[in-house]
Amino acid sequence: MLCRLAVCNVIKLGTIANSKISITCGACKHHAVLEVANLIFVAGEDATTHDVRQRHVCPECNSKGNNTYKVI
Ligand SMILES: [Zn+2]
Repeated sequence: MLCRLAVCNVIKLGTIANSKISITCGACKHHAVLEVANLIFVAGEDATTHDVRQRHVCPECNSKGNNTYKVI
């Protein structure tokens, strides 16, 4: 893989199964930390961090895909 962790949009979840994804809503700044293991359970290990970002719906304001994230 050519990319380096936090700057890459296409990390497959299966390669970071022991990590977490920190997501901050772009609209209300609500912050959430998602366990990658749980995301794999829902989306599969071939889903990417980019998929998760786009699918994530903010529990505070229901904004979808409007967020920033990093792998932690
Ligand atoms: Zn929000």
